[in-house]
Amino acid sequence: MSNSTERTERTMCPMNCHPTLCGMRATVEENRLLRVEGDKKNPDSAGFLCVRGLASREIMDNPARLLQPRMRDKRGSDDWYEVSWDQALTRIVEGMNEVGREQVALWLGHGALANDFGVFANMYLALRFANMYGCQWWDPSMICWGLGGFGIGLTGAMEINTKEDMSAHADLIVQWGSNHASQPNTARHIAAAKKRGAKVVAIDVRVSDACRSAHEHFVVRPGTDAAMALAMIQVIIGEELHDEEFVANHTVGFEALRNHVRAFTPEWAAPICGVDAERIAAFARSYAATERAMILIGGASMHKDRNGWQAARAISCLPPLTGKLGKPGTGFGARHAGQPHGQGFANILNFAARPPGDYVTTQMSAILEAIETGRVRTMLVFGSNMVSSFADASRIRSGMANMDLVVGHDLFMNETTRRYADIVLPGTTWLEDLGVKGTATHLYLMDRILEPAGGARSITAVIKELAVRLGVADFYPWDGDGGHIDAILDHPATGHASLASLRESGGIAALPVSPVAHPDHRYATPSGKIEFYSERAAEAGLPALPTYVPRATAAFPLELRMGRTINHFHAFYDGGRALPSLTRRDRRPTLWISQEDAATRNIADGDAISLHNDRARFEANASVTDRVPQGTVWIHDGWPGLNDLTNGAPCLPDAATRLFPFSAGQSSYDAYVEVSAE
Ligand code: SF4
Repeated sequence: MSNSTERTERTMCPMNCHPTLCGMRATVEENRLLRVEGDKKNPDSAGFLCVRGLASREIMDNPARLLQPRMRDKRGSDDWYEVSWDQALTRIVEGMNEVGREQVALWLGHGALANDFGVFANMYLALRFANMYGCQWWDPSMICWGLGGFGIGLTGAMEINTKEDMSAHADLIVQWGSNHASQPNTARHIAAAKKRGAKVVAIDVRVSDACRSAHEHFVVRPGTDAAMALAMIQVIIGEELHDEEFVANHTVGFEALRNHVRAFTPEWAAPICGVDAERIAAFARSYAATERAMILIGGASMHKDRNGWQAARAISCLPPLTGKLGKPGTGFGARHAGQPHGQGFANILNFAARPPGDYVTTQMSAILEAIETGRVRTMLVFGSNMVSSFADASRIRSGMANMDLVVGHDLFMNETTRRYADIVLPGTTWLEDLGVKGTATHLYLMDRILEPAGGARSITAVIKELAVRLGVADFYPWDGDGGHIDAILDHPATGHASLASLRESGGIAALPVSPVAHPDHRYATPSGKIEFYSERAAEAGLPALPTYVPRATAAFPLELRMGRTINHFHAFYDGGRALPSLTRRDRRPTLWISQEDAATRNIADGDAISLHNDRARFEANASVTDRVPQGTVWIHDGWPGLNDLTNGAPCLPDAATRLFPFSAGQSSYDAYVEVSAE
């Protein structure tokens, strides 16, 4: 029961399942968090808060939380000692000066966005510092959605219809590689559409929860989504189910696409994808015939493949081919980093001030090489377990071990800081810092509700102090703590919102965006139209048309895929281990393996097993299941050591990674493995 000293404040869940995010109410007393609950008045989530969001209350008062800066004299030892902020920052600045700015790098992970996802004010302030100081920084979208965005961007269908439009208008929803564990808040909109009579079809490499709740699902072989989409295109064009008027008015390259897909029949795709040809053809006809059909494309996992961007590109040809853009209930629905028509923010990055330098391109393989070869010698990591998130992670491990200085800023220790950091700085939680979050449709004030615990300081405070100590002139030309936030919000697309205006409106402001993508049929391509044929892809050394690249012959028999479960969020909070309720639900890595593959290896459900290939070995327990087909094994991502198994080869040439403002410089996360009982 509440008493007079308790107060309940509006905030949002710090875990940021994008694109939807969830509102939260935090009840505090003095400087303590008592409880969290869903915010029924949040227009995006309407009171929803999942198990991960509820676990966020365990961040505060957590005995493992970092509360003071700490240092150690020798990596590998556990002899950490507490130091003052002045001592820590003095040592960091010395380290940066010793190697020089071009050998210093900033890496910001998802944890750095706990209170400003969608607006990214605090992250952009850190990147502004990196630009003006002149050190290395790389766009973390390469870890996540960048490669999928690249494929969609080549076609040009980048804007999204809102989830509210989906639930109100879509008659067919295709969840292509998207699942409820990644964006649980989207699930209720799918449920509402189903209740209205919409059909839901899910496509994945495993029988995900989305597949289970769909009316129909397809389980495809890993890395073959592009083949399935090309076969659908072949059926649609071959049977003249395409929208001639839309194609004539708003696209380029149709004839080239028509010729290109002639051979990509469902019969061609069937043995590649592991799906019957008749089912592919029937699905293509059903998609084409449903006037209001919307695709929810997966954010990251589907694009982790070396040619995963080709899947996004081929899939993104389906809406324009059938005239399903610029109308309610069509196009693409909410997806990672997908923006609706009319969204925009001001830019504070100050690229123009970046001094000339020997900068490492935003390409994961190039970063790995720079770290391995000593081109980068001081690494500042904010809110990330960096070594667990890169592909071919053993390379980043050996590189980090040889760094002159590694600094981590976070709430908890993690694999990266435990093994490689020399200095660890305690970060603030989402309740202890000022920020603004943005969804597709709304801005949300993230006011400071609690004073920082112990000696915790925000990223903003740390970056501002580094800028002062390193003499970065004019770095923060704004007043007050939130000047950079106001600067980013000061854009016509927000109605020139500000922290003050958000406070006045109760912390929530609707954005004047269109619920329908591309209502003006202007597409962000060189031609201004949808590009089935892309000259700029060809100029960057890539196929000009969407293509399926056959799977390479592998030395190991099982293809490993990773994804999300409802119990974890990447490697946040020490891989979730710091939060007891999440740890209880997911104590050990669990590998899904088919009954056939388990039987031939004498593996029973629950057995201790190991996965191995020529790069690494990883221990887990088996879940013998019919939810993965023979030849595919699946596990949730983020476990320390798991990415030692993955490939790490570049997916795109360097020139191609620079085609868009976000980074598509992801390496291949492909991994073929053998599994054996321990
Ligand atoms: S889905 Fe769960 S973890 Fe994700 S933002 Fe919402 S409450 Fe947080």
